[in-house]
Amino acid sequence: MMSMKNLPWVDGFLRPIREEYTKAPPRHALVEPSHADISYIRTLCATADPFDTLGLKNDCFEALLSGKADIIKCESDLGSILVVELTSHPFYKPWNTWWRAIRIMTVSKTKTATKKPVRIVIFGHPRLREMPTKKGAPITAEHLNGGMAERCNASSIIIYRHEEATRVMIHELFHASCSDPYYNPTPLIEADTEAWAEMVLCGMAAKGALQPWIRYMREQIDYALKQAATARDYHNVMSQKDYAWRYLVGRLDVWRRLGIQVPWFPTNYKKVESLRFTVCEPKDT
Ligand SMILES: [Zn+2]
Repeated sequence: MMSMKNLPWVDGFLRPIREEYTKAPPRHALVEPSHADISYIRTLCATADPFDTLGLKNDCFEALLSGKADIIKCESDLGSILVVELTSHPFYKPWNTWWRAIRIMTVSKTKTATKKPVRIVIFGHPRLREMPTKKGAPITAEHLNGGMAERCNASSIIIYRHEEATRVMIHELFHASCSDPYYNPTPLIEADTEAWAEMVLCGMAAKGALQPWIRYMREQIDYALKQAATARDYHNVMSQKDYAWRYLVGRLDVWRRLGIQVPWFPTNYKKVESLRFTVCEPKDT
């Protein structure tokens, strides 16, 4: 096993992130949402969604209708971000980080789909990701999921929790930029997408610098191992047949395959109660 800094792909992976942070963030401005934006949001909420099983998008839409939420729109040359924010749950919006993530994920690609402007809707629902309270209960979409996107469609990205919005945005940008090896089974595609999204998130927290990235990744792997052990020992997440495997366990396999040293599951660990996927958050610069 090579140490992380000697892996042959690491410099090529970090370089675009490092270059991104030598530039000013993409210029962006807050603008009034249009009628088309509002009707798009309405359509999203009226469409059945097998992943948003808790109806978080609908909660936000109900709040909009009763004047208990606002739509905030931010535009740049790269596209637009629409945030539905509940009056009861205002939050800081890391626009610089979001636009940087979009630029990192959409430049230097050859596929035409990625040249199109992005359209991202973020429903800032406060619902946190938590392990099921009952021991043995399966971990399902309602405990984990927070976004969706159509393959190769940069205008289809939807995020429906405030928690980890940046990480989910990166994950969905991968799908939207045609990165899916569609011939693979979904659990493997999801594991891959998530593993890379977390590497990019740590890369952004490190502004593309090698040593900080390694440090963030080590923390992330340590956390992911405890979370996977909790999922196995308390909620029977064992194989690809278990829904949560694709995220909680699959990502560890992807990192191993990339040559990163990932120890086996810990036997003596503190149970992880949260189902948020990551522990780092890039500074908004
Ligand atoms: Zn996905």
